[in-house]
Amino acid sequence: MSREVIKLNNLEFNLEIKKVKSKNLYVEIKGDRIIIKTNLLDINKIKEKVIDILDKYKITEINKDYIEKLSIFGVPYKLIIKNIRRKYLINGARKIIIVNFENKKDFCNYLNKTLYKYTKNIINKYSKELNIINIPSIEIKTMKTRYGYYNIKDNKITINSLSIVLPRKLINFIIFHELVHYYIYDHEKIFKNIIKKKFRESRELESELKRWSFIIFYNELIRDLFDL
Ligand SMILES: [Zn+2]
Repeated sequence: MSREVIKLNNLEFNLEIKKVKSKNLYVEIKGDRIIIKTNLLDINKIKEKVIDILDKYKITEINKDYIEKLSIFGVPYKLIIKNIRRKYLINGARKIIIVNFENKKDFCNYLNKTLYKYTKNIINKYSKELNIINIPSIEIKTMKTRYGYYNIKDNKITINSLSIVLPRKLINFIIFHELVHYYIYDHEKIFKNIIKKKFRESRELESELKRWSFIIFYNELIRDLFDL
């Protein structure tokens, strides 16, 4: 394994290259680390391919604000870590949040509660649209790899607490997706059609979610806050 750096706009990534026998090039983005599995030897060729992939997901077009600030429902707030008497202080007008990091758990609880409340409203609304009488319960949980899932046995929807950073339309998209699992287990054609009927731009929304998952794992504030 060797280390290389790639610079794009304002972003800097550490490349970790693992040699494998397979002809396919695998790329995994974890924050500012890009893990590549390849049999290519030419570092410039590898970099070229990585840039292509970052371009495809428009990662290089990410607004710098989102990487340096904490976004709540898609709105970036400047997060200041300070020892203040209060556990946290949110100034909506100035888009500033001051958090006493010793009490960061209280602030995370606040974020989780806010997300829970929002999720509940949307689940009630969409359950009506989808004729779901037995409305699923909700769990908010920090997860590393997914935005949400539906547990059929418990009739429960789990939403990743990190989703609080997303714009509302993307949270709605995730919730709707999980609610459709109430009827259909797999992502088969009917499933996709139901989603498309509600969200015509579902493809774009999916790649937006990919872009956001990069922001979540790149952003050190978010990683610190949620202990990722
Ligand atoms: Zn699904």
